[in-house]
Amino acid sequence: MNIADSELIDGILQKEGYNLTTNIEDAGAIFINTCAVRDHAEAKVHSRLGLFNKIKKNNPKVIIGMLGCMAQNLKDEILANKPYVDIVLGPDSYRNLPKILNKRILEQKHIVDTELSRYEVYDGLFPSRKEGINAWVSIMRGCDKFCTFCIVPFTRGRERSRSPESIIKEIRKAIAIGFVEITLLGQNVNSYEYNNVDFTNLLEQIANIEGLRRLRYTSPHPSDINEKLLKVMAVHKNICNSIHFPLQSGSDQILIRMNRTYTKEHFLFYAKKIREIIPAVGISTDIIVGFPSETETDFNDTLEVMDSVKFDSAYTFKYSPRPYTKAIEYDGQISEEVKQKRLERLISLQKEHSLLRNREMIGKIMNVLVEKESKRSNAFWSGRTDSNKWVTFKKDGTKVKDIIPVRITSAQGVTLKGQIER
Ligand code: SAH
Ligand code: SF4
Repeated sequence: MNIADSELIDGILQKEGYNLTTNIEDAGAIFINTCAVRDHAEAKVHSRLGLFNKIKKNNPKVIIGMLGCMAQNLKDEILANKPYVDIVLGPDSYRNLPKILNKRILEQKHIVDTELSRYEVYDGLFPSRKEGINAWVSIMRGCDKFCTFCIVPFTRGRERSRSPESIIKEIRKAIAIGFVEITLLGQNVNSYEYNNVDFTNLLEQIANIEGLRRLRYTSPHPSDINEKLLKVMAVHKNICNSIHFPLQSGSDQILIRMNRTYTKEHFLFYAKKIREIIPAVGISTDIIVGFPSETETDFNDTLEVMDSVKFDSAYTFKYSPRPYTKAIEYDGQISEEVKQKRLERLISLQKEHSLLRNREMIGKIMNVLVEKESKRSNAFWSGRTDSNKWVTFKKDGTKVKDIIPVRITSAQGVTLKGQIER
């Protein structure tokens, strides 16, 4: 999401005649686009800001801007403790950036704009994209789900969808400059709704765009998943057999306290449906351990769901208490030691499952999109399967952006090796 927003900001600034520099010491202005979803993400930003402060000591004219979710969340603290930050802009204020930058050049005052909008979807503004493989396309912004652990509804505001026309126009443009794959982005892509066009309708319209070879999206919410969506995915060859299906917890009690609005049974039912309707699908997930009041039994429920679904991959997190959220006030906060132990158990189980899923692929032929040279050797490519797994294989005269059949020959850890099938 932040990569996509940074491209948008770059696009807005380039339109006004500004250019990117690759050397931070040469910059007239430095912006950091921030994430507030976990404490760890914020810590990284604080350390980067320290570096920018040093640069500013050598070059007091440089303008420093903090953008995005942390700006929204921590504006007062930043203004009080980091006076070298000149501009603080929330995620709905990027349109104003050129004006604000001009103002800051003329006046030596701090500028803060963190107002959230019910409407801003950045229609009519094109992200700046270098030629590449995958283009991120935002289809909706904000979130109305209010999971009790999550800061996103507070930092990104209310849910709103972009018009299909504007999305399709952006995708056509990306294809015209050589992008092969489009990934649709939103906090809850399947809550998408614009004048009776729902997410499934939108996905179908996009899949029919001429020249679009691969289409992905992230993230769907398990409450809003339905068979209609899965069937559309199965019918259209260019919609990838890959789905991010965020579990968060396998315990019904914890799911209620998280306000996730689905049960373990619902999740398991759809995980099964996904594999039934979309053969050879890759399923990834997000899981949080150590949510307040999570007992060993609750945690075991999560392991049980993992055992039953056998996800292809998982992003795993220790619960991080966030300001404004309900869960920060819940009783039964879990100690760091317990969180760490549970996380380690979860990671090791996931490793087994990833390996198992990857081994199932040995001997099968997968369509792989050639993306980049393998780190291992310049005679090999790395590319992704439709199901979103990296494979390395000998180049054999193929080139970047080709989609070629590759027979999987081995699976070690998370890396697959293969051979082009002639
Ligand atoms: N809208 C997406 C998630 C966006 S945040 C969804 O509902 O799936 C990405 C992930 O960060 C979440 O899925 C969750 O696993 C994790 N996350 C969010 N808030 C967190 C917190 N307070 N502590 C730990 N992990 C968190
Ligand atoms: Fe956060 Fe829940 Fe919204 Fe995802 S659905 S962004 S986890 S509040």
